[in-house]
Amino acid sequence: MEVDVVGTLRAAFPDLENDALEKLSGLVRCTTYPPDTLICKEGAYEYVFYLIVRGTVAITKHFDSQNERVLRHSTAGDFFGEMALIQDEPRSANVRTIDDTTVLEFDREVFEHLMASSPNLAWRMVRTTFDRLRSNDQAALSDLRDALQTLQRLDRAKLDFIEIAAHELRTPLTVIQGYADVLRSDTRIQADSNLRTVIDGVVNGTARLHDVMNRMLDISKIDTETLQVSRVPVLLQSVFTELKHDFQDALAERNLTLLIKQIGEIPFMEADPNLVYKIFYHLLINAIKYTPDGGTITITCWVTEVEGMGRAVAVVVEDTGIGIDQRHQKAIFEKFYQIGEVALHSSGKTSFKGGGPGLGLALVKGAVEAHGGMVWVESRGCDEETLPGSAFKVLLPLRIPDNMSGES
Ligand code: ADP
Repeated sequence: MEVDVVGTLRAAFPDLENDALEKLSGLVRCTTYPPDTLICKEGAYEYVFYLIVRGTVAITKHFDSQNERVLRHSTAGDFFGEMALIQDEPRSANVRTIDDTTVLEFDREVFEHLMASSPNLAWRMVRTTFDRLRSNDQAALSDLRDALQTLQRLDRAKLDFIEIAAHELRTPLTVIQGYADVLRSDTRIQADSNLRTVIDGVVNGTARLHDVMNRMLDISKIDTETLQVSRVPVLLQSVFTELKHDFQDALAERNLTLLIKQIGEIPFMEADPNLVYKIFYHLLINAIKYTPDGGTITITCWVTEVEGMGRAVAVVVEDTGIGIDQRHQKAIFEKFYQIGEVALHSSGKTSFKGGGPGLGLALVKGAVEAHGGMVWVESRGCDEETLPGSAFKVLLPLRIPDNMSGES
């Protein structure tokens, strides 16, 4: 097919005089590409500007390694390829022919000469480029909004599932636990040490399942903001004493030392004793799990003044364990987040690197924040040889702020 190069150039650049158009027609290449030809490749350094004479191209962009999004289609009279030239950057999108497509191709010098020859034209080109960038931005934002909504829906579905599963499983579990207790107290089983071990295993197993389910229910309450925080006077020291007592067997078994250091007086604080117990229970059980036998766990607390929080209790739970890599230090507070391969974890509740459902720290964060406090971790990294340890730092206001949901 005969191509009217000058006519095409005139239609695209009406500001140019005839002489300029004639001259330009001698500097451009006219090429026809068959369907499905990749004319521009995203990321490639290639500086050619294209004006479509006939045919259609699709302009697409990858939004991940597998998926490509169509930004727009361009047809006769449209141009493409200008962004890389104006910005002096690699191609920001792919351009692929849909059918037989004829284009006029301008090399960099020709394009720059064209821009220099008419300020109007240069302005038009810049405006078009900005319009395209803006509409690409809007398309990306709308994709992000859709992705966010999908994630929120999935998160909601996950929470609903957790809640239903925990409720449904709790009833039969309570039945099993009841029967196991009956069996354990039966004199015939009492008399048989093998059977006693078996029943003890069932009782301990169901108790752990109960524990996991309660944690799942707590998490769904935190996420749906239905967690009720009672406001009663709590003495932190007695929470730590209770924890020390509850963990004494595990500490002895693992040859771990637990030190509790109080700096100055700690008055009664307004808090939910149940939640405060859970916060330090999970921090302590993690310190036990991630510290090799023979290590030390230190809980230090004092009263301090915190900007925006007022008088608060600061508590640091520090261990001499394997530590936590910088890149995981924020994410470990998300629910179900675990470092390393879950299948490689050992199974004991307090054994070294014992597995868990990845809910402990999410609960800690939810419970601390429900009190108007904050929690974070500091560690020089994870190393099983040098054992840099971790320090979990908690700030709890002495009085729960009035705007926190809860019971008075
Ligand atoms: P889990 O149920 O797996 O213990 P958590 O939410 O309590 O879940 O902890 C999340 C992850 O954070 C753990 O899998 C562990 O890798 C890491 N972690 C938590 N506490 C410590 C600690 N004291 N030392 C080293 N790693 C820790």
